[in-house]
Amino acid sequence: MNDRCDSCGDEGTSYATVQRIYIRYDDHGRPTGEFPADEFETWCAVCCTIYPHELVQPD
Ligand SMILES: [Zn+2]
Repeated sequence: MNDRCDSCGDEGTSYATVQRIYIRYDDHGRPTGEFPADEFETWCAVCCTIYPHELVQPD
């Protein structure tokens, strides 16, 4: 696991492994759905409260 946040780059003490959730839009800018990113990221607690994501549970 990283020692800094992949999203904002801050160093901290509490991290979570997440999959970022992207929102898909149509040609008119209206949200039509959402889909998860292909890779896992390490996020700080602040980013986890701001950005849509799914928590990845370690085995
Ligand atoms: Zn962060």
